Amino acid sequence: MSVSRRSFLTGLAACPLCASIARAESAHPHWTYEGHGGPKEWGELAKEFQVCALGTQQSPINLEAAIPAAQTALTLSWTAQPFKVVNNGHTIQADALSAANTADLSGKVYELKQFHFHAPSEHALGGERTAMEAHFVHARPEGGLAVVGVFMKAGKANDAFAAVMAAAPKSEGAAAAQPVIDIARLLPERRSLYRYEGSLTTPPCAEVVDWNVFAAPIEVGQADIDAFRAIFPMNARPLQAVNRRFLLQLN
Ligand SMILES: [Zn+2]
Repeated sequence: MSVSRRSFLTGLAACPLCASIARAESAHPHWTYEGHGGPKEWGELAKEFQVCALGTQQSPINLEAAIPAAQTALTLSWTAQPFKVVNNGHTIQADALSAANTADLSGKVYELKQFHFHAPSEHALGGERTAMEAHFVHARPEGGLAVVGVFMKAGKANDAFAAVMAAAPKSEGAAAAQPVIDIARLLPERRSLYRYEGSLTTPPCAEVVDWNVFAAPIEVGQADIDAFRAIFPMNARPLQAVNRRFLLQLN
């Protein structure tokens, strides 16, 4: 080992964040939903993915046997905004271009950063998955994520989802459009929801998410589901063990 390499490694040890950045640069781990690099292997693909295999508060889960709770439900302040619609190789994602849309959880205000989709749904309701699920990822400047999940099933076409799919790049990294999307149209009328503490459903599977999943699905057009599945035939993580967690139901 040369002197310069030794001092490089010493520097990394003194700066854990630098070390993780260095690793990401040298070996950006490729992960998938099926076959090599699939969910069973996520925890072994990189040190920073270990919690995917070892964590005890992982997502998604089957939503059943919930405890009725009198907590304040979620308050969403969402208006029509422009979003940058991208294909990131794992999903179609709409990135927020402002901090205009927020979620209030018991007085803590989170800003919407992006929303994206899974097919089929990642969470299950009484053991059943729906055609798709939308995830609205909100973050607090102080840290922590609040993700709002919405089940989607085939039915009447939904303007907002149709607008996303009309802008969706078919290949990863292709030029992104910035349509205005009225995301409140992606919410069900009935706002009964399940709340639990879980994780990101993709690597690194960090256990930093307050999940809020609406019980009622929304309807979207079959043609738009087909358009999504033509790009991503299957991008849902298998169900994870609930372990010693409380699943709350808020009406
Ligand atoms: Zn997701």
